[in-house]
Amino acid sequence: MKTALVIGGGFGGCLASQLLVEKRFDVTLIEKTSFLGGGCKTFYYGGHPYTYGPRHFLTKREDVWQFLNRYLPMRRIPEHEFLTYVERDQSFYHFPIHRDEIPEMPDAEKINRELKECRAENPSAANLEEFWTTSVGPTLYSKLVESYSKKMWQIDSNTELTFSIITKGVALRERPGQSLLERGDFGVSRGPQRLR
Ligand SMILES: Cc1cc2nc3c(=O)[nH]c(=O)nc-3n(C[C@H](O)[C@H](O)[C@H](O)COP(=O)(O)OP(=O)(O)OC[C@H]3O[C@@H](n4cnc5c(N)ncnc54)[C@H](O)[C@@H]3O)c2cc1C
Repeated sequence: MKTALVIGGGFGGCLASQLLVEKRFDVTLIEKTSFLGGGCKTFYYGGHPYTYGPRHFLTKREDVWQFLNRYLPMRRIPEHEFLTYVERDQSFYHFPIHRDEIPEMPDAEKINRELKECRAENPSAANLEEFWTTSVGPTLYSKLVESYSKKMWQIDSNTELTFSIITKGVALRERPGQSLLERGDFGVSRGPQRLR
């Protein structure tokens, strides 16, 4: 029997291990913490589940959905929308950023001035901050993107990240409120469950 060593029992490690086992590998999974799941885990306190990490799984591929659904029962939520609360505006906005919502923002004039200087999704940016400020301007960046890495990965400055990720696929979307179903995605929200 072939053997495999998987380091890290997060979503990726657990999935890789499962696939290897299905291919008849003898798998050893090493996880440095006392629980599996990595960034996708649920803690329980006083009987109440506290989810930490993914609640939504998005894919355009039905076969991927069917595959995951075999292990993690999920439900489709075509009506779901990504809204983010911006404290300084005391408003909810869609994410990815929707051009159509800019007129509702208190600093719309400033944002529109900055957008004229931008190039759409600058692929040559040196770091994540530069990517976003040159793609959507400093005001939209600070309002909707800047604190994301701190929340997700405890990274204080986006200049420390040298890759160009576009969270949720696109820097600036034209139309508001497209449902996941319209976009052809299979939107999924998992209820709190332990990873086995
Ligand atoms: C608050 C929050 C919300 C999120 N929401 C979503 C969402 O809605 N949808 C979505 O798709 N994604 C979401 N994510 C992102 C998602 O959590 C990650 O993309 C996913 O966890 C990455 O999986 P991974 O297996 O690559 O890494 P991780 O989940 O980070 O797993 C890595 C594992 O490796 C272990 N490890 C590290 N070093 C070692 C070592 N030397 N030896 C042994 N083990 C080691 C770690 O302890 C960890 O268990 C969210 C993340 C956060 C923090």
